[in-house]
Amino acid sequence: MRSFTAIAALLAGLSLTAVAWAQDPAFDGARLSEHIRILSADDFEGRGIATPAEQKVIDYVSGQFEAAGLQPGGDNGGWTQAVALNRFSASNIQARLTVGDWTLPLAQGEQIVISSRRPGEDHVMLMDAPLVFVGYGVKAPERDWDDFKGQDMRGKILVVLVNDADFEEPALNTFGGRAMTYYGRWTYKYEEAARQGAAGVIIVHETDPASYGWTTVRNSWTGPNFDIVRANADERVPMESWIQRDVAVDLFQHAGLDFEALKVQARSRDFQPVTLEGAGMDVMFDVASQRIETHNIIGRLEGSTHPDETFLYTGHWDHIGVGTPDANGDAIFNGAIDNASGIAGLIELARVYAAGERPERSIVFIGFTAEESGLLGSEYYAANPIYPLATTVGGVNMDSANVYGRTAAFGVVGFGQSDFDERMAVIVEGQGRVIQPDGNPASGTYFRSDHFPLAKRGVPMAYAKSSGAFVEEPIAERLASRDAYTANRYHQAEDEWSADWDYSGQIQDLQVYWSLGQGLANSRDWPQWKDGSEFGPARAATAGERE
Ligand SMILES: [Zn+2]
Repeated sequence: MRSFTAIAALLAGLSLTAVAWAQDPAFDGARLSEHIRILSADDFEGRGIATPAEQKVIDYVSGQFEAAGLQPGGDNGGWTQAVALNRFSASNIQARLTVGDWTLPLAQGEQIVISSRRPGEDHVMLMDAPLVFVGYGVKAPERDWDDFKGQDMRGKILVVLVNDADFEEPALNTFGGRAMTYYGRWTYKYEEAARQGAAGVIIVHETDPASYGWTTVRNSWTGPNFDIVRANADERVPMESWIQRDVAVDLFQHAGLDFEALKVQARSRDFQPVTLEGAGMDVMFDVASQRIETHNIIGRLEGSTHPDETFLYTGHWDHIGVGTPDANGDAIFNGAIDNASGIAGLIELARVYAAGERPERSIVFIGFTAEESGLLGSEYYAANPIYPLATTVGGVNMDSANVYGRTAAFGVVGFGQSDFDERMAVIVEGQGRVIQPDGNPASGTYFRSDHFPLAKRGVPMAYAKSSGAFVEEPIAERLASRDAYTANRYHQAEDEWSADWDYSGQIQDLQVYWSLGQGLANSRDWPQWKDGSEFGPARAATAGERE
């Protein structure tokens, strides 16, 4: 216990460079392995939400939390938070674009994908709806940027570009250069369009700025879509859609416009919305919606002196469930790395925290549901927090741990957003590793896991893990295993547990997460967003609630 306190005291203080890395706390690779093996076994059926497997996951994770010594942290003194979701399926889709005499029929999955997540609407019909090109569809007051220029968008279909205004020309540096800001994500485009009162959105798919091809768009949007249950239907537009780039070019041409030239105009603060004169869209489809209930799993260690202030550790327990059989006839998407490995880390953190000296602030451990359906368990928690967000100090999210051994670097997704960068750098350097930004910030990885719904509401969240070169032999073999996961196992039935995994890298990462949380939980310190972060204003709004 001695070194727990020593490290925490050092981290809470200012002489951070003096931290000598200690072996404590003792995270246990054998325990990590066993949790992953159990949670990803075939009898957990790929941990699909609202399936019989869900209760098995809840029983296992809450049982481990209880054995560690946590208290239930969910609704009504229990281990779970009920998460109500709507499942939407669009069918009988008919759509076409017209400009004068020119008509282009749009087939679902081919030229377009159409969906709706608007509650209470079982049929969507838009006839000759006006089309307006709104550039990147961004309203960012802290960047002095407004693509709508106060024009009335009600009842219109917005045609928007994916990513943000300086993706093609990073030197403009209007949205942080090549890294994608949240304004670049499709989720933002839909949210802003709803705030503008639009009838629909058409996102123009381009492979580079989206960072994925049309196949991904088609696979993601032609099946059922989920959303948290929303009391206010106006938070969603009636029609959400993507079209292929070639369709957009064709449409613009028939309306007398040059798509590429308009894209260039959209990179400027002076951009004005452009109505596609004489153009319209007809669209009709049915929407079946069904209410389902799933659960976040929550355990808590109450703080000794400031129990109302909370540090979070999070990871998602769900995976894809049972899908179509692969070439080997395997239909169970076991999700061993994604994200039984993160839940194993969560359980180990709970065990180590509960065994140590009680921190001054509370520590809350959350296994989120429905991450694979669009970060919905975390969205639900962030919209309905059990522990107030204003006094949530910050947190660490874990998704898909490194199971291939120690690496030379520690990669921070969303590097530059918050002072977690500096806080983690001190710890990481004490381990003899270097901290580095995420390798591909243009793809918007920061917006693709469960820390994000919290970050969006102003809670500083870290999302970081081992990266870069392996440091122990057999290096080539380790690298091959990591590459094979990305190429052949990620989101496939072969994401299965292996007895050969090396947890030394994950353990180093857990030590970083632990030191970060332990230091903050025993201080009066509040982590800060950096100047220019799009999440700073949401945090500033509740400054009065933090001492
Ligand atoms: Zn994941």
